[in-house]
Amino acid sequence: MRANVTFTLSEIVQATGGERFSGTPDLCFSGIAIDSRTAMSSDLFIAIVGERLDGHDFVRQAINGGVRGIVIDKKHAESFSYARMAKLELGCVVVPDTTEALGKIANQYRKGFGVSIAAITGSNGKTTTKELTAAVLAAKYRVHKSTGNHNNQIGLPFTLLGLGPAHQWAVVELGMNHFGEIARLTQICEPDIGVITNVGPGHLEGLGSVEGVLAAKGELLENMANKTAVLNLDDKLVSTLADKYQGETVLFGKGAKAQVRAKNIKHANEGVRFTLCLKDEELPVQLRLHGDCMVHNALAAAAVGVSAGVSPKEIRDALETVNPVKGRQNVVSLGNDVQLIDDAYNANPASFAAAVMTLQALAKASKGRMIMAVSDMMELGDYSVDAHMELGRMAAQAGVSLLFISGYYAGWTAKGAREAGMGIDQVFIDEKPNIVTRLAEAVQAKDRILVKGSNSTGMSEVVQGLKDAL
Ligand code: ATP
Ligand code: MG
Repeated sequence: MRANVTFTLSEIVQATGGERFSGTPDLCFSGIAIDSRTAMSSDLFIAIVGERLDGHDFVRQAINGGVRGIVIDKKHAESFSYARMAKLELGCVVVPDTTEALGKIANQYRKGFGVSIAAITGSNGKTTTKELTAAVLAAKYRVHKSTGNHNNQIGLPFTLLGLGPAHQWAVVELGMNHFGEIARLTQICEPDIGVITNVGPGHLEGLGSVEGVLAAKGELLENMANKTAVLNLDDKLVSTLADKYQGETVLFGKGAKAQVRAKNIKHANEGVRFTLCLKDEELPVQLRLHGDCMVHNALAAAAVGVSAGVSPKEIRDALETVNPVKGRQNVVSLGNDVQLIDDAYNANPASFAAAVMTLQALAKASKGRMIMAVSDMMELGDYSVDAHMELGRMAAQAGVSLLFISGYYAGWTAKGAREAGMGIDQVFIDEKPNIVTRLAEAVQAKDRILVKGSNSTGMSEVVQGLKDAL
């Protein structure tokens, strides 16, 4: 990643609170890079310590490539020769933590713009809600948004470093897998509006329990200086945050208490339809997205729009233009009136429950069967076995006709499904290529197929295989 931004060495020292070891204060950089291969000659290279690679191992390469400055951490500082750096006229700033320094630089940059920021967090639906929110705000403003899924302590700073003078609003995604991360991301972006989509069992390896997830997501509100919070009233845990929050809240959901509300939800082949109730207005909406969870994501986006002064009609029109994000309940029509829900991008218990609801809604509309091809949900720690048993039970209780399973936890998913009543002729454990073949042979007209698993399980191969076969 690289950003085209201009900073002087003294500004970097001031933003990071680091120590200047070499270079004149007025040394000027024309970009920030963290990858020595993409760094340009007058850049500042920040040596980030990653899970697999350590940027400090590439500092020499970056210097040889001509960067004008480096940010390194105290631990590594001793191994660099300052005399040589001074000779090279290289700016060198030493900080306690280089990732934190990147965040501080991005925060300084963000504060230099009169831009308003909407930050979105939650266990599921962040990226989709970000896209919907950006579309809604773009009806009235010039909008910047995170690209793809850039939601961590590297992705968020680079998103902010992409701000330009034209932007009036930015929509960013905040992700996490351990405590303190949302607090730090919130401090970096200083949002004007904070959105929490929902709280469910995800990243339990780092957070222990759903209550842990709630506390971690709550860090958004704790660090928002009482700015506007957009909260999901239909999520029991999130609504408890609404009761406690001191700042302004905009609540969304299906219940009468919600300020931004959906009613008359109907599922159709082309997408879900509902009536959007905003203050005194009611407008029919036809989304290009499927399932109840997408109605919630659209309500969250509408709530941000209301808060930012976008008119109800502009909000509705914008929501109707948004296409599904790749691999997120992306409904694909195949031959013989068969539809496939490509949900291969990620999986955890709550997003599985949401996806099964979508599958049920689509099958009800088509009067066809439900088929699922699933793989593992990652990062659930001690809860993994129970969660996969529960996934099997969920498929059985939903009335799924055929369940194809791959992955390490396949046996437990199958066990849950069998115990909840699915027959030996309905549950199959197999490798992904065989699943494609067997499913393609078994499929009938009007069937609805859900394909889902954590990204690393590679269920996108099954999606592609089925698209090719059907
Ligand atoms: P990540 O944590 O990987 O960044 P995310 O929170 O950005 O995920 P999306 O990528 O938008 O979420 O959606 C991931 C999956 O979550 C979707 O494929 C869908 O199955 C499910 N999902 C989307 N919106 C919701 C929602 N509001 N409630 C529950 N599940 C949802
Ligand atoms: Mg995301």
